[in-house]
Amino acid sequence: MGSAKPDKPNSANYDVVKGEDNPPASVNVDLETTCWGCGLRVLVSPYAPVFKCGWCGAITKQNAAKIDNNYFRLRRLRDRCFVSIVLLFMLFFICGGIWAVYPVVFSISYFCGLFNLIIAVILSISTLSLFCMAALQPAGAPPMILWGSYPTVGKGGLENYTFCHFCSKPKSPRVHHCRSCGMCILDMDHHCPFIGNCVGAANHRAFILFLISTVISTLYLAFMTFHAALYIWPPMSRRRHFRRLSGFVNAELIFRVLKDDAFAFLRSALFLPVRGRILVYLFVASVSVGVGLSVLLWQQLSYIYTGQTYLSHLSEVGNEQIVERDCQNLVKFFGCRFSAEFFSLSYWKSRKSHKH
Ligand SMILES: [Zn+2]
Ligand SMILES: [Zn+2]
Ligand SMILES: [Zn+2]
Repeated sequence: MGSAKPDKPNSANYDVVKGEDNPPASVNVDLETTCWGCGLRVLVSPYAPVFKCGWCGAITKQNAAKIDNNYFRLRRLRDRCFVSIVLLFMLFFICGGIWAVYPVVFSISYFCGLFNLIIAVILSISTLSLFCMAALQPAGAPPMILWGSYPTVGKGGLENYTFCHFCSKPKSPRVHHCRSCGMCILDMDHHCPFIGNCVGAANHRAFILFLISTVISTLYLAFMTFHAALYIWPPMSRRRHFRRLSGFVNAELIFRVLKDDAFAFLRSALFLPVRGRILVYLFVASVSVGVGLSVLLWQQLSYIYTGQTYLSHLSEVGNEQIVERDCQNLVKFFGCRFSAEFFSLSYWKSRKSHKH
């Protein structure tokens, strides 16, 4: 039924037309056109760029120009480059981190080294597997629905649906077409080039868990590299500064001492072995990646808390719609439907008992 074209003349059924921009009453040049959703013929003003079918509720955009999708292959290439870079970076973090940190930690204590190595392996496996889940899982295809002929499409059966000209099928208000993936995605949040995939209904949870795992891993790596770098850092000659500071203190002296310290630090860095330099690089990189991803994770969790996606948030900016802020949105998102119900039930009971 999905392929049925609404071209058949069906003059017996004239539909209610809601024009957005009606012409003056004196001009009566309504055009007869067909609703793509139910196939009924409708009268519509030629001045109305958008009209909504009174029967099925489908929205038709008149003269909707089909945007060409020339850059699809370029977008695909860009996504593959980004994914390769991210994978190389992750492997460098894991292998470089283990090579640089663990000989130092094992030299401090064998038990401590083994314990930290197990943590590193668990974090690496969880981050890599969640990355694969977010990148390889389809982001969420919208459900197939019948369209195109009356009476198959019931009254209000396509309420606020529009037509996707790329996929040639109906698109609900919850669905967006991604031009990088070349398909419609249910509850699309955004297209992430770093996983080479959309973030939608099917892989949103894996994406958030990947972010959480990556943030924990980078924080752990930053802590371990800092600890290991301190252990192997060449000694600095700072004793004379303290002796100088113990006497008369003024701003100029403090500035000179700080400057001397900074130079002593940089001079000692020159004598760092290769392992030490890699440790410094890993520390700086893990802190910057960790901070960036924490901001992204915070933004994502705040959208989930308000029951929105990034795209639905963008479409509601300026509309001032009331958003429902609720912790249950977060609980439901992470798939604990039973615990969400239990939580709400116990909360309701406790409120009731307080009233008595
Ligand atoms: Zn219709
Ligand atoms: Zn589409
Ligand atoms: Zn996409």
